[in-house]
Amino acid sequence: MLDADFFRRWLTACAAAVDREADRLTELDSPIGDADHGSNLRRGFTAVAAVLEKEAPDTPGAVLLVAGRQLISTVGGASGPLYGTLLRRTGKALGDAAEVDGAGFAEALRTGVDAVAALGGAAPGDKTMLDALVPALDALEHSFGAAREAALHGALATAPLQARKGRASYLGERSIGHQDPGATSAALLFEALAETAETAETAETAEGDASREHGRG
Ligand code: ADP
Ligand code: MG
Repeated sequence: MLDADFFRRWLTACAAAVDREADRLTELDSPIGDADHGSNLRRGFTAVAAVLEKEAPDTPGAVLLVAGRQLISTVGGASGPLYGTLLRRTGKALGDAAEVDGAGFAEALRTGVDAVAALGGAAPGDKTMLDALVPALDALEHSFGAAREAALHGALATAPLQARKGRASYLGERSIGHQDPGATSAALLFEALAETAETAETAETAEGDASREHGRG
């Protein structure tokens, strides 16, 4: 089961990943955008990590609502409202449950991804973050690791596409041959999710081992 602490650790891991990869995200946003995607998300996720520490929301839904609100209010570019909506709508779908299982999370996340598509008017194939989000979501019903792979693959597969939404679409055919920055950052979020899940599993196994040791002793 995934609790508020799991979601806090996921978003903190997102902040670390975005911070680490910010320069690369901005580089990807140079030829087909305005070279601010990395700095936009770094500002946003740094603020998310800070507010989660300060407010310590105590349900998964509340963690995502607080984080989404923070992204919307701190990120000026298109990606702020889009990722903010993703987290807020996912959080809203989770309600006030203290814990959620993997399937429940995937279902809530579908509400969030649908809201991103509705807000941006984009669909998979338009060379946006949805090209990573949608395949990752579909793979999430198998495992966090499968979602990570699907998101990464989806991000790489944006390179040959012509952008139909966002700033990159202004370039028409000249957007072809460049990987989409938003799909790349979306893949980072799923990488952080898989890492967070692996850490949680390792901790559980260690706990199990410790209690068995204890029983034997
Ligand atoms: P801006 O384009 O305002 O500078 P960012 O650089 O932070 O914002 O984010 C750009 C990314 O946002 C794009 O690479 C793309 O993935 C995503 N994006 C832009 N417009 C849309 C849209 N309408 N729907 C979905 N994603 C979008
Ligand atoms: Mg930009």
